[in-house]
Amino acid sequence: MLLASLIKKSLKRIKMLDCPRCEIELVTETKVEPNQSLEYHSCSLCEGIWVSKEVLNYLERIQEPVAIEILDIDKKLDQLIGLNCPSCGEDHLMKKAEHPRDERVIMDYCETCEGVWLDKGELRAIQQEGILTALAKLLGIK
Ligand SMILES: [Zn+2]
Ligand SMILES: [Zn+2]
Repeated sequence: MLLASLIKKSLKRIKMLDCPRCEIELVTETKVEPNQSLEYHSCSLCEGIWVSKEVLNYLERIQEPVAIEILDIDKKLDQLIGLNCPSCGEDHLMKKAEHPRDERVIMDYCETCEGVWLDKGELRAIQQEGILTALAKLLGIK
């Protein structure tokens, strides 16, 4: 019983994540910081990035967080189609979050696990001070 639940737990931890757009497996990369190692996941096809709550929490501790505005956006553009959360699965449609200083940047945000999906170039498009700049630096995106 205990062993079964332990195995289940470790299986869940190494669960593969799929790109919400391309449905191929995301590549997991680890960034080692002084006090912890941070994991993020990227798609080799569309170059989107999935960032977990742990990474965002870490950045919030070292940076002034930028408020992420959650919007209910009409599906008027193809790029605004809803994406399912890579971590939570098919029944978890992510919310759209517009960056307060750049309305071209629409991020996908999961209310359940609090991860954030960034499409290619979204981090680059928002090079202002704040948590997303720190994230871009952390991931080595210039
Ligand atoms: Zn992709
Ligand atoms: Zn989620």
